[in-house]
Amino acid sequence: MINKLDQIKQILDSPTPILVTASNGFSIGEGINIFQNNDDFQKILGDLIPKYHFNSILSAISYPYDNLLDAWQVWARLINYFVGSYHISSQMESLKQLLKNKDYLIATSNGEYHFNLAGFNDDSVLATEGDWGTLQCFDEHDDRQLVSSLPIAQKIVDAENKNQLTLDLLPKCEICGNVLLPHLPFNENYLKPVLSQNKFSTFFNSATSKHQALTILELGVGQNHPNLRKPIFDMLSLAPQVNYIIINRDHIVVPSSIKKKTIEFSENVEDVLQEITK
Ligand SMILES: [Zn+2]
Repeated sequence: MINKLDQIKQILDSPTPILVTASNGFSIGEGINIFQNNDDFQKILGDLIPKYHFNSILSAISYPYDNLLDAWQVWARLINYFVGSYHISSQMESLKQLLKNKDYLIATSNGEYHFNLAGFNDDSVLATEGDWGTLQCFDEHDDRQLVSSLPIAQKIVDAENKNQLTLDLLPKCEICGNVLLPHLPFNENYLKPVLSQNKFSTFFNSATSKHQALTILELGVGQNHPNLRKPIFDMLSLAPQVNYIIINRDHIVVPSSIKKKTIEFSENVEDVLQEITK
């Protein structure tokens, strides 16, 4: 009997389209942890702790700032650091190798924009909970566009370093003049990523209605990620030819109806990806 690793190598070597889902466990494998009071947090926001009393990057993201200038001071630092200084990890290299010449879509709840920065096509990355790499206007009007966040963040950080941070430096919508904010689902005016949503629907429809083979590769998605897991569970219950590979340090509970289609690795994402691609 072939072992689990050979079994998934065989599946991933086939020309079957691959739907990758990735969450916190993948970020942590790249050295990004927004949940902890760690070096990154101290380096980027340490001087603001006495003012806001936050204890992680996540708490800084969700802090109810009094005004847009205060909010942008924090956002600019985060974007400048994570989007501006991203270095591709060995884990990401393994994933790139794995998906080379394949039809794929990466659906991720991670906002750090690392898949785009690593060179995956923007249309093949579905950031289910938004991203820090682009900005949008939250006023409700037509023709709103996503704007690249990094050049703006760099300008704001430079100005802050020179004690020259003023309201006029904040990015404005070209149409209505409102201050732009990161492309995150703050409210119902969030711009959903259309192209990659379409690709997700195509994968879903062909796997469920035409019985086309599809591989789902889940990388470090925690138990509490309904946005990312519910559509996958729905797909699996309807599609006969779908293989579901879970790589996660922690054991993930899957409904008994889809257990047969599931291969689970309770190990680090980085280790398994490296093993598969070596
Ligand atoms: Zn606007």
